[in-house]
Amino acid sequence: MQTNTKILAQEFEYFAPKTLDEALDLLDKYKDKNIKILAGGTDLLVKMKTINLKVDYLMNVKNILEINFLDTADGLKIGAVTPLSHIIREEKIKMKYSALYEGIMSMAAPAIRNMGTMAGNLGNASPAADTVPPLIAYGAEVKLQSKRGERTVLVEDFITGVGETIIETDEIITQINIPKINKNTGSAFLKKSRVKADLSKINLAVCLEREGNVCKDCKIVFGSVAIKALRAEKTEGLLKGQMINSELINKAAEEVSSEIKPIDDIRSTAEYRKAMSKEMLKDGLELAWARAKG
Ligand SMILES: Cc1cc2nc3c(=O)[nH]c(=O)nc-3n(C[C@H](O)[C@H](O)[C@H](O)COP(=O)(O)OP(=O)(O)OC[C@H]3O[C@@H](n4cnc5c(N)ncnc54)[C@H](O)[C@@H]3O)c2cc1C
Repeated sequence: MQTNTKILAQEFEYFAPKTLDEALDLLDKYKDKNIKILAGGTDLLVKMKTINLKVDYLMNVKNILEINFLDTADGLKIGAVTPLSHIIREEKIKMKYSALYEGIMSMAAPAIRNMGTMAGNLGNASPAADTVPPLIAYGAEVKLQSKRGERTVLVEDFITGVGETIIETDEIITQINIPKINKNTGSAFLKKSRVKADLSKINLAVCLEREGNVCKDCKIVFGSVAIKALRAEKTEGLLKGQMINSELINKAAEEVSSEIKPIDDIRSTAEYRKAMSKEMLKDGLELAWARAKG
């Protein structure tokens, strides 16, 4: 049964490593013993308090300076414990990565953004996560490290279902890499929620590159319409290589509502989500298209 006692009514061993090596040693040692990584705790601690998620070993990684950074030199490289509020303070993100900026700005309130991280948003793997559609639209990757080595995986492939990812129990996300954006690229994020500081009923990220009046490339990613964020690839195919005009945008909007497969749940209905997907796609395409002009 769901309770909210506001206290952590369970015992666990707590670690707060100061270096990545220490963290990797702990993950290796306790990998078969129910160890959880704690970043901002805005998802994990809530689950431990309200749905009684059992944790035996809790490793707070917020003190590891090596993974608290924001590098804007070539694309974006964002450390796993960099707070969401730091990411949106970076001018390059606001100007060039509008969908990510708008996605983070739409999340909760400043207090949550000060604590929460993008790695935590990915690790929690909610279909309603607001950073996931923009990250997929930009072709972002997560870097995973363990004592065994490191690997990078597309965000699109990292989340496999509700609360499920491909991360192994001895691995940690150390950074998120977002590729450099080509000239004449524009992006936008839109979200519908019950009240402003709430999870999405449906959200959308669009990223497109234009060459004059032609759409050279395009990615359309919806959240909260399936078990994980969903690329509307058929709709993308309708737009790529085509002259963009209102007739094509309307056609794409009709296509997208049949491509997504939403369900009824506590936040919304499939009917609402299908209807909204059309309107959101029209708005998202128009906004990203205008921004791509520079
Ligand atoms: C009031 C409230 C409002 C919210 N509103 C929104 C919203 O509008 N939109 C939205 O998307 N989310 C929202 N959230 C959810 C939450 O704030 C975000 O998902 C946030 O990004 C989680 O980050 P965190 O650092 O707090 O993660 P944590 O809670 O610390 O961790 C979440 C999960 O990720 C794992 N994890 C964390 N860091 C790593 C790492 N480096 N490597 C591997 N695994 C890791 C943890 O083990 C855990 O499973 C809200 C939460 C609250 C409490």
